[in-house]
Amino acid sequence: AKRHRDGDPQRFHQAQEDELEERLTLEGELRRAIYNHELCLHLQPQVDEQRRVIGAEALVRWSHPERGNISPGRFIPLAEETGLILPLGLWVLKEGCRILGEWCQDPGYHHLKLSLNVSVRQFQQPNFVDQVLASIEQYAAPAERLTLELTESLFLNDPEGTVQKMTELRKKGIRFALDDFGTGYSSLAYLKALPLDTLKIDIAFVRDLTLNMQATPIAGTIIALAESLGLAVIAEGVETEDQREVLAHLGCSTYQGFLFGRPVPVESFLPEVLTDTSA
Ligand code: C2E
Ligand code: CA
Ligand code: CA
Ligand code: CA
Repeated sequence: AKRHRDGDPQRFHQAQEDELEERLTLEGELRRAIYNHELCLHLQPQVDEQRRVIGAEALVRWSHPERGNISPGRFIPLAEETGLILPLGLWVLKEGCRILGEWCQDPGYHHLKLSLNVSVRQFQQPNFVDQVLASIEQYAAPAERLTLELTESLFLNDPEGTVQKMTELRKKGIRFALDDFGTGYSSLAYLKALPLDTLKIDIAFVRDLTLNMQATPIAGTIIALAESLGLAVIAEGVETEDQREVLAHLGCSTYQGFLFGRPVPVESFLPEVLTDTSA
């Protein structure tokens, strides 16, 4: 049916109903997708100062049989609202560990680290630690090459529980990065208390770098903060050589962004590592 968005309240109501129906359809389809393996992980390289690939971030992709690719920006929030993020997150965890386990057997790739995104809801499940440890074991994945990316909103809710789970997993060698740093509710007190390894500078502060160089760049403040806390830093969303250069001057040593590589299917990622961009 054709929809018109005009001032007619009845039509407006219809548009809202359509939107709700669309969401319900998508929810059903996402549920099916998780169990029918329509999801896959793409990998985006993370590089050092010499542009050597040191690892990757896994980003989930949904290729819908009729609608084509649906962006995570659309289906992750839906998954969060509906609880589907739990089976989805578990699938990501297992698939990530499977990939790490495979890399481990190949001398060309066994140095690579893998970062996985973990949603707050997933992390707060009482059995989260067990799920991670079971996935690692199932695929013989090296724990010390697995990083879990968490977001700041975790620490609003249950800071003690969060620290406890992180500490438990860290004892096994798993590392933690704080994603989208600076965009949430960062509290310096939490930051100090958390067993973190890495801060990820959000793309918003990287984008700023070329436009706004007179002001003290926020990225510089984050890098200094990380240094004083003994944490590593990764700048995300680096798209231009200028941005990379400014970041390097500010003391950043690890990068991720289209400048170095887009997220690609797992099979395409490995050859790229061997034919390194630093050459
Ligand atoms: P994120 O974790 O902050 O991931 C980085 C996003 O920035 C990715 O978008 C990536 O493709 C994009 N990106 C990387 N480099 C550049 C660049 O140079 N320029 C620009 N403009 N963008 C860049 P993507 O893949 O669409 O994912 C969006 C968000 O969806 C992620 O943001 C994350 O919050 C969520 N997400 C993705 N995969 C997963 C997952 O497996 N589990 C969970 N819980 N969330 C996920
Ligand atoms: Ca991330
Ligand atoms: Ca991020
Ligand atoms: Ca983000």
